[in-house]
Amino acid sequence: MLHDPAKQVARLLRDHADLPAQDFLRAALGQLGPVAMVSSFGADSAVLLHMLARIDRAIPVLFIDTLALFPETLAYQHALAQHLGLCNVQIITPERSELFMRDPDALLHRADPESCCQLRKAEPLARALQGYAGWITGRKRHQAATRALLERAECEPETGRIRLNPLADWAAADIDAYLGRHDLPRHPLVARGYPSIGCQPCTSRVLSGEDARAGRWRGNEKTECGIHFIGGIPHRNTQEDAA
Ligand code: SF4
Repeated sequence: MLHDPAKQVARLLRDHADLPAQDFLRAALGQLGPVAMVSSFGADSAVLLHMLARIDRAIPVLFIDTLALFPETLAYQHALAQHLGLCNVQIITPERSELFMRDPDALLHRADPESCCQLRKAEPLARALQGYAGWITGRKRHQAATRALLERAECEPETGRIRLNPLADWAAADIDAYLGRHDLPRHPLVARGYPSIGCQPCTSRVLSGEDARAGRWRGNEKTECGIHFIGGIPHRNTQEDAA
């Protein structure tokens, strides 16, 4: 097994670029050290979770409960995990003591959403990923301009961890077709106008013709929660400066 993450990424992209998403995921899991899936149990999450369940239901699935999620997301998380037979879902929460000190009235998202995402998402995830060689995300190029050049595999220079994005080249229609073909349960908020679902205070309905993520941090320049940044910036031009 290679131990240079950049070489591992290059090899994955070279050898498995044309595989269907599930086969790419299976091949990557066979070549890397311990890997976890990070899932928001959001609008599209059932696709990748279904693929993972078909490969190995015991692979860890990390779910970040920011303690600001929609109740519908918490109910969906429980129901979908049961439906798929996932047996290693780990619920990750922010440290209570940190919340007490840094966001005692739970209004930090209004004053400083970057710091709020750092506290409630990025720091808990960084702690949870300790010891893993890589993690799996459900990000897709079509979701936003900041993800337009997303690769199926990338390396985080700061951690040396590999990030797998098996659905990078999937379009919204591919997701919809897969969900239908496998009769997978949908997040209940999608039918109510939320094609992308994050925390309750920072997610609004999307209007016809808007970007699917337009309802996230509406009215704010912020477009990403920070857990997908490499080198402190969101995905842009190359694998080296991207997330
Ligand atoms: Fe805070 Fe909003 Fe980020 Fe959730 S999405 S962690 S509430 S700023």
